[in-house]
Amino acid sequence: MNAEEAWTIAHSQLELQLDRATFETWLKDAAFINADQSTFFIGVKNSYARDMLQHRLYDNVCRALGNVYGRDVAIQFEVLKSHNDEKKATQDEMPLFQLLARQQVKEQDEDFPTQSLHERISRPSKKPLPDYELNQRYTFDRFIVNSSNRITYEAARAIAENPGYAYNPLMIYGGVGLGKTHLLQAIGHACLQQNLQVIYISSEVFTNELVAAIREKRTAMFRDRYRSADVLLVDDIQFIGGKDSTQEEFFHTFNALYTYNKQIVLASDRHPSQMKTLDDRLRSRFTGGLVTDVQPLEYESRMAILEMWMLERHVQVEPAVLHMVAERATSNVRELEGVFNQIVAEAQLTRGRLNQTRAATTLDRFDRPRHHSRPKVTPETIIEMTAQTLNLKTSEIIGKRRTGRINQARQIAMFLMRELTDASLPQIGGYFGGRSHTTVLHGCNKIAEELEYDTSLRDRLNQIKESLRQ
Ligand code: ADP
Ligand code: MG
Repeated sequence: MNAEEAWTIAHSQLELQLDRATFETWLKDAAFINADQSTFFIGVKNSYARDMLQHRLYDNVCRALGNVYGRDVAIQFEVLKSHNDEKKATQDEMPLFQLLARQQVKEQDEDFPTQSLHERISRPSKKPLPDYELNQRYTFDRFIVNSSNRITYEAARAIAENPGYAYNPLMIYGGVGLGKTHLLQAIGHACLQQNLQVIYISSEVFTNELVAAIREKRTAMFRDRYRSADVLLVDDIQFIGGKDSTQEEFFHTFNALYTYNKQIVLASDRHPSQMKTLDDRLRSRFTGGLVTDVQPLEYESRMAILEMWMLERHVQVEPAVLHMVAERATSNVRELEGVFNQIVAEAQLTRGRLNQTRAATTLDRFDRPRHHSRPKVTPETIIEMTAQTLNLKTSEIIGKRRTGRINQARQIAMFLMRELTDASLPQIGGYFGGRSHTTVLHGCNKIAEELEYDTSLRDRLNQIKESLRQ
């Protein structure tokens, strides 16, 4: 195979591997220029893309290309002259996702007038329908952002700025209590302020309403109502699985809205590929925009949330007690809220004299049942599940070979050990034929960084975690 063919194949593989926004913005127009013995020269349209590819995405691209070409390669990205009319200064100041969103809006707007959706359609101010009241507390400014939810948060903001044009649909998935409903409703609040017709609904309520509409022979009304939305937010969409009429109806609603660039945002407790009883045509619709997840928050963010709640409720809790709360409730924010409420109640009972010992007793009461029910994950099972999920042999993961795929699998296993077990860096290195702690640290950082934009990596990691839970 010649170098140019290798690039073409690698390019199409990357299209599948990276999330759509990343691929379209940075890689879509990247073109083969030439190659020498060891280096590929690839042309891109601006220096922004060059920097992004040369730094953040370099390993992904190199790995894909190396796998196709059958040997390790280096890549040099170069700005193609004809595209070099960018406004770099303003772009540099923009956060990535805003940039992505604008870029996409620009592309789509070529067929449309330059105004945004809500400018084009002026209509009388609308209040949300009474059944769909949004929780006033679920706003963007009350949402704490860190690396475990940043992509999702930025995507939600981009949507709130350009409903219908940034990502459509946006599908947010993740475990309970991690802020999916909060983000859906935050989008809802922001869109209501733009006088858009917002419908927030859970898929269960959608089903119940449909059943009632069929019974009372008013399905046409039911349809009109949902199809009048500018922004349709459907929570807990996983419950739609297996319900044929609901799926059928939702499919048509989805298409009707999508055709007119109305925004659709979905939340689910799992990735669409894990919804076993979902129609394939819906699955492909659900994954046709941006699919992104929310993960548990780390200690600092849990503390930030607790401090926010303290200020809002005008309660005082000693920092040491707050620290204990943050340490105990690690799996999700709903749990954190539960523990926090207990502590606040206790503080009110003792008229603010909640000392550490007393708080510890309260927390123990809360903690006990769940602590015992969760078996510990061992480094061995992590290696085994990583290998199994990624179709490798255990011996390959702990062995010496360093091809792209094996190396990344090894780094994923290291990353998971660091996150899920108490093993130290040197101990982790020990599981991989005595690699040094710096190698382990490098591997973990690498994965953490790639997770920020490589959604297929996030999916694979989530799959491994899922299998570790069973
Ligand atoms: P989910 O829909 O994912 O089950 P919710 O959105 O209902 O979770 O979140 C549960 C609670 O935790 C809510 O009170 C929500 O406001 C809060 N919460 C979750 N994530 C965050 C976050 N990152 N920052 C602030 N509050 C959060
Ligand atoms: Mg929810």
